[in-house]
Order: sequence, then C-alpha cells, then structure tokens
Amino acid sequence: MSSDNAKKIPPLFAVPEREPAEESAAPPRQRRKRGEEQEVPPACSLCFGTGYEVIPGKGARRCECRTEGTRNKLLDGARIPRRYDPCSLQNYYPAQGNGSQLKAFNYAFRLVREYPSVDRGLLLIGPVGVGKTHLSVAIIRGLMEKGVPCMFSEFGSLLKKIQDSYNPISQNSEMRVLAPVYQAEVLVLDELGASKPTDWVRDTMMQIIGNRYNDKKLTIFTTNYLDARRAPTDETLEDRVGVRLRSRLYEMCKTVQIDGDDYRRRFDAPQI
Ligand code: ADP
Repeated sequence: MSSDNAKKIPPLFAVPEREPAEESAAPPRQRRKRGEEQEVPPACSLCFGTGYEVIPGKGARRCECRTEGTRNKLLDGARIPRRYDPCSLQNYYPAQGNGSQLKAFNYAFRLVREYPSVDRGLLLIGPVGVGKTHLSVAIIRGLMEKGVPCMFSEFGSLLKKIQDSYNPISQNSEMRVLAPVYQAEVLVLDELGASKPTDWVRDTMMQIIGNRYNDKKLTIFTTNYLDARRAPTDETLEDRVGVRLRSRLYEMCKTVQIDGDDYRRRFDAPQI
C-alpha cells in the first residue's frame, strides 16, 4: 500500500458489542409485519451476512445477528420438519469407504464455510435414505449459525399448499404461499420431481425455480431421480421436471450424486 493510501484508509478497530440501551437507538431492522406469517426475514441489514457490523469512524464489531437470540429466531422461521431438527454437519457420518458421501459432505461443508462467496447451490441426487435431506438441512443450519436467513420446503407440500390456495374459502392466496419461497435468501427444495409431472406441476415448478434462477438466489435441491437410467424403465430427472428446468438446474447448482444403502435400514438391525 502506498503511503498516500495508508493515510486515506483509517485502521479498523474492534468495537465493543452493542449494549441493550443502544438497541433502541439502533436503525430499525426489517421486521415481520402483522399478519405476514409467511414472511422470511431478509438478510441482515447491519452486516449483510458478513457477521461484522462496521461502525463508521470507529471500527467493526460482531454483528448482533450472530447472537443466540437471532439464531433461534432464524431457526424458528426456517420451517425445518421436526424429524430433521437434529440434523447437522457434525452428526452426518459418511459410510466407510463411500466416496460419494464424503464428497457430498465436503461440498456441504465448503458451501457453509465460504458463504456468501458462493454463487451456486447444490443438487443432491441419489436413492432414498442416503442422507440428502439430512445434508441439506445441515447446510441451512450451518448458514443460520452465521446469521443467514434460510427456509426449508418440501416440494410436494408446497404444491399442495398452492393448490389449496385456489379454493375460494381458503384464507391463503397463491402469492402468500409463494412469497417466502421466492424471497428466502437460501432455500432447500426437498424431493424435486416426486410429484406426478402433470402440466400444472411442471409449470408451477418452472415458475418457482425460474423465479429463483432469475434472481440468482441460492437453492439446494434434493431428488431421488438420477440423470442416467440404471434400468430401462427408470425415469430420469429430466423426465420428471422437463428439459428446460433441468437445464436451469445445471447453472444454478453443482450436481452431487450420493450413493449407498438406505440409512433407515439400520433401525431394523437386530437388537442384541
Ligand atoms: P434421503 O433424503 O436421502 O432420502 P434422509 O436425509 O432423509 O435421506 O436420511 C434418512 C435418515 O437417515 C434421516 O434420519 C437422516 O438423519 C439419517 N441419515 C442418513 N444418512 C446419514 C448419515 N450419513 N449420517 C447420519 N445420519 C444419516
């Protein structure tokens, strides 16, 4: 750095964390409006996801979004199903000698570590019970630890909620169901392609994913449908979601195939 530049850029000092009294004087953070049950909190307006709040003229301090209270709020808003509540990177155990599970774990770990310098999500492909949902939940859990607002959605239930919103007596509108899915900073869409691919299902999937694609929003998908047929009667991911959507997924995500046995079968092991 030239001596001129050294004069212009003030050094960055550590600043003590915000005192409770300071809280009321702080700029208002974007909050959930009344009645907007579906809203997902936006990215932290103080640190923009970096974890450090810069205090002009003074320095930087750990952002309040990294505090336990904020993390708990993010976890509450993420709608992770209770069954997957305990899933984290710490309790994902790649099966011995299974390179695909180790590779998937490494991608998940790197995504969490490198976020927000990440421009593609993950498409976790593989048979039932190999830990795709576990890993996707582990990723958003890790990101929420960093203060990043995330959301989990199972594709079949999402489509059902949209269909229900068409009912004239429904209190919900399609936009109300979809807004949080569009807005989530990081979204897990679980079980892509599981619903019978009618024209409506395909159009709706395209609308949802196309929206996130256009907005360059990070999305993690899981699916049981592979890209290549293993048996002549197998359906591929492209068969289920269509060629246009599969094409977008290539650009939005790194595809990671996980192989292995159904982890749930362990629960059926003989008790000694
Ligand atoms: P998939 O989404 O691939 O069908 P899940 O992620 O739902 O599989 O995994 C099924 C169950 O097995 C979950 O309870 C999950 O936590 C557990 N599980 C799967 N793989 C692992 C693993 N490698 N380490 C720890 N738990 C696992």
